[in-house]
Amino acid sequence: MTLYLKDDRFHYELENIMRMFFWRPEIKAGTPEDNVNEYCFAEAAGPDECGRSTLTVDFHENGRRTFLQEPADVGLSEKETEQKMAVLMYRVLSEATGKRPPFGVMTGIRPAKYMADLIERGMSPDEAEKLFVERSLVDREKARLCRLTAETGLKLRKRCDDNGFSLYVSIPFCPSRCSYCSFVSKTVERDRSMTGKYVEALCKELSYTSRITGRLGLKMQTVYIGGGTPTVLSEKELKILTDAIQDCFGAPTEGEYSVEAGRPDTITEEKLSVLKDAGVTRISINPQTANDEVLRRVGRRHTAADIEKCYEMARALGFDNINADLIAGLPGDDLESFKRSVVWAAETLRAENVTVHALTLKRASTLRETESELFSPQAPEMVDFAQKELTSRGYSPYYMYRQKGTVESLENTGYALGGKECLYNLFIMDELQSIIACGAGAVTKLKDNNKNLIERVFDMKYPQDYLERFDEMLLRKDKIEGFYAR
Ligand code: SF4
Repeated sequence: MTLYLKDDRFHYELENIMRMFFWRPEIKAGTPEDNVNEYCFAEAAGPDECGRSTLTVDFHENGRRTFLQEPADVGLSEKETEQKMAVLMYRVLSEATGKRPPFGVMTGIRPAKYMADLIERGMSPDEAEKLFVERSLVDREKARLCRLTAETGLKLRKRCDDNGFSLYVSIPFCPSRCSYCSFVSKTVERDRSMTGKYVEALCKELSYTSRITGRLGLKMQTVYIGGGTPTVLSEKELKILTDAIQDCFGAPTEGEYSVEAGRPDTITEEKLSVLKDAGVTRISINPQTANDEVLRRVGRRHTAADIEKCYEMARALGFDNINADLIAGLPGDDLESFKRSVVWAAETLRAENVTVHALTLKRASTLRETESELFSPQAPEMVDFAQKELTSRGYSPYYMYRQKGTVESLENTGYALGGKECLYNLFIMDELQSIIACGAGAVTKLKDNNKNLIERVFDMKYPQDYLERFDEMLLRKDKIEGFYAR
């Protein structure tokens, strides 16, 4: 399907709306040629000589036309016109396709963060929920989920210190590639020899960075070691890394130290002990599903029983805050199987955090290349079930985000039992404080609280470049000092 835009002003917004309805739409400037039969045309025209402006969306498919045109009120700002165009296009495409993407015209923003911001600025939760439904055409159930998420998140926001930061440490290696993943991780099957040198360089970067945060008098509130799969490192490498974090930054002031242990094929009792001794308080051991056939199909080299063993091992070592990621919509999965996964995560694993992702098909994933048509069409019912089931079991949603390419334009939501929420997840998703990040692929996000501005500092994306251009990259860290000096 091709979207023709008469002018470029609302390109980004309208393309995003189009993408919710069509897989890889083509976007062209101008009006459709005579021989084109399937297209959507959008135009904000005027004012004409009589001062009239109109907004038009004209959709043609299979010989059927869906057309809406509205006058544009005099004095509408560019932003308001964009909003009206988006609503018009959403209504036309909904009518023509029968689809109703659940977040309406809300694209490019994090809905729960936006709702929390509105409430923080004085709007009542009822008004904010109503605004979502009436102005942005958000589904009522989703608006309610945003509200619940925002209300939990707002309580946690109080723990964010203006003079604080969170440390993110990137380990961009995995044991093998899962088919749905587009993350730029290296598989250690091919790059085992690199991890030792990588950890060595990373420790130098941590040391350099800690001198900067020390000079600035910033205090580290939380730590998050993510990836990739950090537990792909050897026990010795994990010890070197966690020692370096301790030596450079000390313990996080909010007492929160998370590590993605990710896949059971990388977890050993010795590695978990190293993490426990280092003061790690929260780990993720991610099943994605309890269905072994689905796990095999997406290239995860483990079974649900392997996950259970890892949980038992971690519990025996005293870990009392474990996250389980689940994915709704995986190929070969169905609603009943997904329901079993949710109940299993809560009942058998007794995971304190359950993060429910909707499958995202990104450009670089092999799944997108091979099985894009085979994802489970029941993903909307799956995430709805997860919400009802988890909240009935005492979990609360506390952070949410959406990604491009997610099946049925769904959301990812983090649920946790009271007191077990991951502050880091909220701080980064709601952009509440600076995230100082080290390692290949890491992005430092510096937050200016006065101007509500974020400045990014990028590390090298790939481990090879990270090692080869290390000195050059280290100098980029000086931008942190420059930012705070301003
Ligand atoms: S899903 Fe996780 S474990 Fe699998 S390849 Fe991606 S980052 Fe690695």
